Amino acid sequence: MKVDIISIFPDYFAPLELSLIGKARTTGTLDLTVHDLRTWTHDVHRTVDDSPYGGGPGMVMRPEPWGQALDAVAAAGATLVVPSPVGKPFAQADAHELAGLDHLIFACGRYEGIDQRVIDDAADRMPVREVSLGDYVLFGGEVAVIVILEAVTRLLPGVLGNADSLTEESHAAGLLEAPVYTKPQSWRGREVPEVLRSGDHGRIARWRREQSLLRTAARRPDLYASYPPEHLDKKDRKA
Ligand code: SAM
Repeated sequence: MKVDIISIFPDYFAPLELSLIGKARTTGTLDLTVHDLRTWTHDVHRTVDDSPYGGGPGMVMRPEPWGQALDAVAAAGATLVVPSPVGKPFAQADAHELAGLDHLIFACGRYEGIDQRVIDDAADRMPVREVSLGDYVLFGGEVAVIVILEAVTRLLPGVLGNADSLTEESHAAGLLEAPVYTKPQSWRGREVPEVLRSGDHGRIARWRREQSLLRTAARRPDLYASYPPEHLDKKDRKA
């Protein structure tokens, strides 16, 4: 997958050299380039912002550098992703959709955001997704891009050592994952549940399924309510 990130703070993306994203870049699964938006400014101060039309606090990102940046980076088949608190809340299903695309361009807003005409103009030429990380406001889109990119990259073929991790985790099938444990068996007087030590794969699977349902019902009644009843089997119904 090809990824271009445009930001006024390219250094924010240093962590993308690390861990599994770093490895995906090394192996070529992820072809990632970070661009400094100020490359496309032409004044001595390398200005990217100005005061908002209509008044009000803060500054707005000017359209000219953004327009030139997107003209330079966009190619046929690219999708523009704009992190924004006014966007669609990002969920695992969106990560799957983005992971199926060939070329993502991320536009990191700062200040009060990007002049709306940039998004409208881009939408004439390519699919545009405005994506929100949640109902709160960040300083800028950089952290949001790192979050989205982590969620997307781990879905790319070959990135995770064990692909089963993707099917047996929270949000893979609309439920939260059961609690997980490792050694030692006893820690500070707390024992690993007996069933997980039993070696009985049927019992373990049933226990995990029940815990998953109980956890989802208790912690995320919204998810539980939208879980399709036809996905519940007879044993689930008894539990
Ligand atoms: N004035 C904007 C508003 O009220 O909707 C907030 C701008 S915010 C200070 C600056 C940038 O941070 C945004 O353009 C966006 O790129 C990013 N950002 C802030 N909150 C975000 C969120 N919840 N999800 C995704 N991106 C966010």
